[in-house]
Amino acid sequence: MAKQPIITVKNLVKKYGDFTAVDDISFEVYEGEIFGLLGPNGAGKTTTLEIIETLREKTSGQIMVDGFDIENGVDSIKKRIGVQLQAAGYYPNLNLSELIALFSGLYGVDVTANQMLEKVALTDKAKAKYKDLSGGQKQRFSIATTLINNPRIVFLDEPTTGLDPQARRNLWDLIREIRDQGTTVVITTHYMDEAEVLCDRVAFVDGGHIIGINTPDAFIDELVALGFERKKEVKAANLEDVFIAKTGKEWREA
Ligand code: ATP
Repeated sequence: MAKQPIITVKNLVKKYGDFTAVDDISFEVYEGEIFGLLGPNGAGKTTTLEIIETLREKTSGQIMVDGFDIENGVDSIKKRIGVQLQAAGYYPNLNLSELIALFSGLYGVDVTANQMLEKVALTDKAKAKYKDLSGGQKQRFSIATTLINNPRIVFLDEPTTGLDPQARRNLWDLIREIRDQGTTVVITTHYMDEAEVLCDRVAFVDGGHIIGINTPDAFIDELVALGFERKKEVKAANLEDVFIAKTGKEWREA
């Protein structure tokens, strides 16, 4: 089946004063994929994402999201996307159940807190406050909030930064599940290992430019075909795998 673009970005430019943070980038995200924007700090990933999410103004360029033009379709786009809130948006006196009830009320959708917490294996924390969650649980909760309006696309900005290896892998499983249930996922990360195992396609962003878009496998095969060899023999597992194997639990059990 031909891949259908669900997001199309054409010649996007974002200037902050004299500084060009996003410099004429174009790409497509296909329906049903996990698409990664990869690059170092300051590359322009967050700026690009927030413009697509309708949270920041572009300087120029065209963007279509699920058939709607960002120029005149902001309300329709907002209804179709899920965006992670900054932690500051989580009223400190409310527990997770109450927060979900609040957000579903705001979206005008009829979901129970339990349904949403179930999706991210947090039903046992329903009465906990956000501030009392572990780093991985906080990320899972925040992902649950992006799913409340049953979006066509979710945007995750560095969802695994600062997490331990096990929590990171739990989150990868969760993100794959979201994709497998039909939601397109756009994620930013500067962890290349994460992108390699998680993303269906990646775009490398550097200095406001896209320097390549492909599947991780195709990028790696292309480099190897050019004669690239790693200096050191790569073992079939690494220390992170050892740690996971020794301590590992599936995230459903965590
Ligand atoms: P990180 O991985 O650190 O989040 P990023 O790739 O997401 O980086 P952006 O946050 O998009 O990068 O920032 C791109 C560039 O634009 C950076 O040089 C940043 O300092 C600059 N920038 C971002 N927001 C603003 C702003 N509101 N005003 C001025 N410059 C900004």
